[in-house]
Amino acid sequence: MTKSDALRQNYNKLLSKSKEFILATTIHSLVEWDMETKMPPKAVNLRSQQLAMISQLEHKLSTDPEIGDLIEKIRKHPDYDSLDEVEKRNVHLIKKNYDEMTKLPEELVTEITRQSAVTVNVWKKAKAAKNYSMFKPELEKLVELKKKAAEILMEVKGTATPYDALIDMHEPTMTANMITKLFDELRTGLISIMKKCLASPKQPDESFLSRKIPVDVQQKISSSIAKIIDYDIDSPNAGGRIDETEHPFTTGYYDDVRITTHYFEDNFASSLFSVLHEGGHAMYDQNLRAEWMFQPVGTGCSYGFHESQSRFVENIFGRSREFWSFYLPELKKLTGKTYSDVTLDKFVHAINAVKPSKIRVEADEVTYCLHVIIRFNIERDLFADKITVAELPEIWNQKYKEYLGVKIENDSEGVMQDTHWGLGYFGYFPTYALGNIYSGQLLAKMQKDMPDWKKHAAKGNFQPIKQWLTKNVHSYGNLYDPPDLIKKITGEQINVKHYLEYLNKKYSDLYGY
Ligand code: ZN
Repeated sequence: MTKSDALRQNYNKLLSKSKEFILATTIHSLVEWDMETKMPPKAVNLRSQQLAMISQLEHKLSTDPEIGDLIEKIRKHPDYDSLDEVEKRNVHLIKKNYDEMTKLPEELVTEITRQSAVTVNVWKKAKAAKNYSMFKPELEKLVELKKKAAEILMEVKGTATPYDALIDMHEPTMTANMITKLFDELRTGLISIMKKCLASPKQPDESFLSRKIPVDVQQKISSSIAKIIDYDIDSPNAGGRIDETEHPFTTGYYDDVRITTHYFEDNFASSLFSVLHEGGHAMYDQNLRAEWMFQPVGTGCSYGFHESQSRFVENIFGRSREFWSFYLPELKKLTGKTYSDVTLDKFVHAINAVKPSKIRVEADEVTYCLHVIIRFNIERDLFADKITVAELPEIWNQKYKEYLGVKIENDSEGVMQDTHWGLGYFGYFPTYALGNIYSGQLLAKMQKDMPDWKKHAAKGNFQPIKQWLTKNVHSYGNLYDPPDLIKKITGEQINVKHYLEYLNKKYSDLYGY
């Protein structure tokens, strides 16, 4: 056996270990999907044991000391450079996950899991009671634990600050400094667009969006939207399905990627845009390179890049005038006489209405990122010990006044509206806005490569757009970190220019400013 054969053998062994871990995660998400969609109530106790067991298995598989040995042998092998780019990336990604999983003391991990469960449970009650002082002590404990973990991860990852280590878990190699610079510029641009829209005499009438559409009709709308974006839920070879849950989400891997939506009789647009959004996430996971299945490189690049795909399909395509010039007649057919009196102009303006609100998940395209920027600024300062958990409501309310001009009346509609912090998800929020920023850069590049994409959209033809996204985004999988991937695709560094240009053009047309 030559030296290189040994290298090859160790690499293959490492990959097969990684495959076991990936398979376990797919089982985990399937069991969770079932819990949200189909599980009968009596199964709760059995299900929690099943979930605990699969989590244990995942931990065991990903921290197997043999993985550490194999990584060492591979990286120190004199022929290491004979591995190609994809193989090296796989080794890098496995090492990164292994280091994260093994360097955190098991006690701390268990304590964080336990405290998150307590905190999110208290969060639900405190939110219902509009009482932050109930939530505060548990959140303080959780933040302290997360700070401890972040300090260890900072060492492992070599980041400049603990918060950067948390960002890196979601948006690899991005830092709070980079994001602050982007978000400061984005905030100024968004507030300017928002103010122009609000000052315009041309305001949308949204009243017709609350006309009742029965759930069975909305299900038909979901199917027709899925067909348009080529998300296959009904052919004999379908790799997707749509079910109903409280909050929409996407879960799955390659040939089995499922989405959920929520139907409101008096707000059909909510489900329609959820299907477009989640369908965008699903499209990414289903169109990764087939030959990379079960390899670490065979996954999306980052949370932010994932969000760029969902927001692209939901907003750039799904809320465009061109798409609705095709789809409004379809919608009218599906909904009987309900929308027969609504014109294209009125409809497109209504689904793109700019309304500063208190609640992130109800926000429009222009104000959405302002909600995210507020959360990012707070997290950053919290983890830098510049502010305390006790001060969060006051800072939150002041920032909502300053950025969005809205007055928060109580902490349930304020600092306690999202579940993320109660679950210990810090470093996650900024990825929502980064996704929008990427989507703007991708659009600018697509426009250059395919100037007539809007003509396709106006025929309800999503295929050329999907093919462009697959070639330029999906096919790279997790081969590069986000700053490198956006540069590779567009030739430019991450910047907010294109996203702001897209919004400015779209909203000046809509509002006539
Ligand atoms: Zn999303």
